[in-house]
Amino acid sequence: MSLNFCVLASGSSGNCSIIWTDKTAVLVDLGCSSKYLIENLDILGILPQNLTAVLITHAHMDHISPSGLNFIIKNNVPICTHKNVLRDISKKYGDKIEKCANVPFVKNFEFKDLAIASFDVHHKDRNVSKTLGFTFFHSLNKRQYKIGYVTDTGKICDKIINNLINSNILVMESNYNRMMLDVSFRPYGNKAWVLSSYGHLSNEDAADAICKIKKLSSKEDSLKYVFLAHLSERHNTRELAIKTAKEILLENNISGINLLPTKRKQKSQTIRVFSN
Ligand SMILES: [Zn+2]
Repeated sequence: MSLNFCVLASGSSGNCSIIWTDKTAVLVDLGCSSKYLIENLDILGILPQNLTAVLITHAHMDHISPSGLNFIIKNNVPICTHKNVLRDISKKYGDKIEKCANVPFVKNFEFKDLAIASFDVHHKDRNVSKTLGFTFFHSLNKRQYKIGYVTDTGKICDKIINNLINSNILVMESNYNRMMLDVSFRPYGNKAWVLSSYGHLSNEDAADAICKIKKLSSKEDSLKYVFLAHLSERHNTRELAIKTAKEILLENNISGINLLPTKRKQKSQTIRVFSN
């Protein structure tokens, strides 16, 4: 028995992660090309036709790409997301979404031995009306193991924090370095949106959230692995994201967290939460 997690890709050019047990395998988002997905699933020893479902956080193209959509249609992998997210995707991809199998979405649901809960995060624009975060639970020998997942949010509220408490693995957006964003040549409107409470999360805000979640977690092995996700290509670097998080964790006397920066076109190491 095992619970495994891998970020296949994360960043403004494409997001996709996979969680799998002995009985089920679930993708989160489909922002990569079909070719990239097939290659990386093959390395992990997972056949596309064995995927149980794909969960979609929201309709931005770096989370559901045309090629990703073709991948799930071809392999008959059902899509699972809130009806408003599905509506946003339909507006972008038209009839194509109707070719996808879908599984009914409720706030809390189960795929065999993996329980999943969704919650709202703060990320909207004229094309996106709703964005979700997820938590994944797997129980073994009366112990519950948890993975928390938030890749796009303009702010962190108490509700998000409460959902992520006691995660063994946490994926947290750490999108931009404030100084790099300030001096960039991005149009003012786009910068204002990134900075808004419906845009993206800065390195500092991500680190503050990690500290809050760790302080509120009662389990000793909480936040053993924290992936810093969705790093902006232009307004961040892996080194800056890690440095900021390390400094803020140190200021808060927090230790025992393995910080793992994610990459845009290279999968992360696989974290096996447990195996027996
Ligand atoms: Zn987005």
